[in-house]
Amino acid sequence: MKCKNLKGCPFFNDTMADMPSTAEMFKKSYCLDDPSECARYIVSNKLGKEYVPDNLFPNQHDRAQKLIQEN
Ligand code: SF4
Repeated sequence: MKCKNLKGCPFFNDTMADMPSTAEMFKKSYCLDDPSECARYIVSNKLGKEYVPDNLFPNQHDRAQKLIQEN
């Protein structure tokens, strides 16, 4: 299932600084297949889009959990 945030997501649209070399792989597994496991998606869903840091990558699950606990 595709992510509902594809259009406005800086990761998917390659506008984040320091995009990892694994970006295309992450897009396939998170953005185009299972967004429920994406750190950006999880924070956006739990707290709202405004809480997603510009530089949060989809695989940064620990950071996502910390943000959720702190807010
Ligand atoms: S899965 Fe994550 S990185 Fe991909 S478009 Fe959705 S919010 Fe952005």
